[in-house]
Amino acid sequence: MDDKRTAKYQDLLKRMVGSMTEFDKFSREKFVGILFEICELFNLSKGVTEFYESLSAEKEGKGEILIDYDNGKGEKPVLSHRIVTPTMTVIKSTLYMADDAEPLPEDEKHDLDLMLRSMMSFISRNRLEKLVEKLAYYDEFGYPNLNFFIKHLELMKENKELDGNTAIQFNMRQFSLINKDIGRDAGDIALRRYYEAFKSVIGDKGIICRVGGDNFAAVFKNDVLKKALQLAEGYPVVYDDENEKRVLLSACVGVFVFPDGYVFDRPGEVIGRIFSTAQDARLEMNGTIVYYSEQISANKEKYMHVRRFFKDALANGEFQAFYQPKVNIVTGEIVGAEALCRWMLDNKMIAPVDFIPVLEQNTDICSLDLYMLDLVCRDIRRWLDEGRKVVRVSVNLSRKNLIDPDLIEHLLIIVDRYKIPHRYIEFELTETTTDVEFTDLKRIVNGIRENDICITVDDFGVGYSSLNLIREIPWDVLKLDKCFIPTEDNYGVTELMFRYVVGMAKAMGLECVAEGVETAEQIEILRENECLIAQGYYFDKPLPISEFEKKLEGYRYACP
Ligand code: C2E
Ligand code: MG
Ligand code: MG
Repeated sequence: MDDKRTAKYQDLLKRMVGSMTEFDKFSREKFVGILFEICELFNLSKGVTEFYESLSAEKEGKGEILIDYDNGKGEKPVLSHRIVTPTMTVIKSTLYMADDAEPLPEDEKHDLDLMLRSMMSFISRNRLEKLVEKLAYYDEFGYPNLNFFIKHLELMKENKELDGNTAIQFNMRQFSLINKDIGRDAGDIALRRYYEAFKSVIGDKGIICRVGGDNFAAVFKNDVLKKALQLAEGYPVVYDDENEKRVLLSACVGVFVFPDGYVFDRPGEVIGRIFSTAQDARLEMNGTIVYYSEQISANKEKYMHVRRFFKDALANGEFQAFYQPKVNIVTGEIVGAEALCRWMLDNKMIAPVDFIPVLEQNTDICSLDLYMLDLVCRDIRRWLDEGRKVVRVSVNLSRKNLIDPDLIEHLLIIVDRYKIPHRYIEFELTETTTDVEFTDLKRIVNGIRENDICITVDDFGVGYSSLNLIREIPWDVLKLDKCFIPTEDNYGVTELMFRYVVGMAKAMGLECVAEGVETAEQIEILRENECLIAQGYYFDKPLPISEFEKKLEGYRYACP
């Protein structure tokens, strides 16, 4: 090799090694350019490097050409190498010269061989790194995964780029139903397109990852949020191009807008916030979008507390039944009572709003309801044994109980253990919103009635009360929620509805009880409409057992 060529060779070798080691700035074009120069330097006519994912792919000839140089001058092979990498991928490289070219001198052939081998080992390492990265940061469908999200957050923190960004987590609404409806494959297509739509809304202002199933997480500049949330509210995607079939996808979203100057200790902090906020979005009946707030987060801690201590509290007898009288507004007599649960913890009283919703997230509430029934039956038994006056006491049953196929038996075991005449027991159930529950509700209500126990629809008028509920289910009592009871502020339409609903219920043979009665004016309206039983602060708050027992003995409330 003459000096000029040797210098060129040295230069190329240096540049090649350089381009291979500058990993983070690695440029494929630069690398290939150098290889082309090498081909020219050694007077090669052609150089082909092939890559195969596996040995069988190689056998079937299903590979990828990584580098292909061909000046069309000939096909005489000079060097050929094949390596099988530790991940069983195959790299093959062959160099050719013009058919009539002089064979390469031994020293040049040696130099070329060295270059070829280094190049192949580099490709092998590069591919391995890509594979490792792919496995670590992408899921099996090629979506960036949670690791990707974490890495991105860390990078944002490192570059001090957190300000002015928002992180969200979202879960597709009713995606399992959609899958059932259009089929899994179409479901996959729909999900992919929804993701693509998000990606294009985010553009280069952030990233979106799939973090399992139909859950996604994204972080982006604040100005993207509005459009992202529009997608979450509902976005139609085509899942069948041929027949132009579309499905409307929407999502429940937890949003965390980074406060100014926000920095996290660990990315898990952001992830924890958006995941739990998205969980709230899912649990809220009408909520699709929930923003993270410190307040909610504090509540969450309280929730965790309740969940953790509930079983012990139940075993330690920390739950008590308070009794709120139901009063006949003509005579002032106590004609019944509702048992309401109170959690007594370290001499403090915790109200139901602070623990019932938590317990309703799983079946813990069912244990509590049965426990309350037990307490009530024990009290009634004592009243009976002591020859006191006894009134019918209602116990609240959460809708969660509907999934217990043996609910009626479980209730009767308790009532009958204390030998309580069934006429002294009443159950209050709230209305339901789904068809499935409706069927169960009907079954339970019938079962309770067959045992001569009184059954009440509680909180009628709250939410989306349907008239079907009272047409199709044979309730004994309709309990009108306080929002249904006219007040000075909402007299007009409310009074009208109250009048007609009470009239209709009575005509259907239902007993009516008004709940949340607070003023003499309200009692007046009840009386005008012949809704003669009332429960509310006007008479009494829910009372501890001893106070309630005192009133039960012939006490008469003054009625206006
Ligand atoms: P609910 O069954 O509709 O009970 C009536 C609620 O209204 C009670 O709240 C009662 O204290 C309140 N209330 C009564 N009169 C008035 C009034 O004049 N004005 C106002 N503003 N409120 C009045 P509480 O005891 O806090 O219970 C709230 C809810 O918690 C109950 O609503 C019920 O859904 C649930 N709950 C309570 N105890 C139990 C239980 O043992 N099991 C189940 N599953 N739920 C329970
Ligand atoms: Mg109730
Ligand atoms: Mg109620």
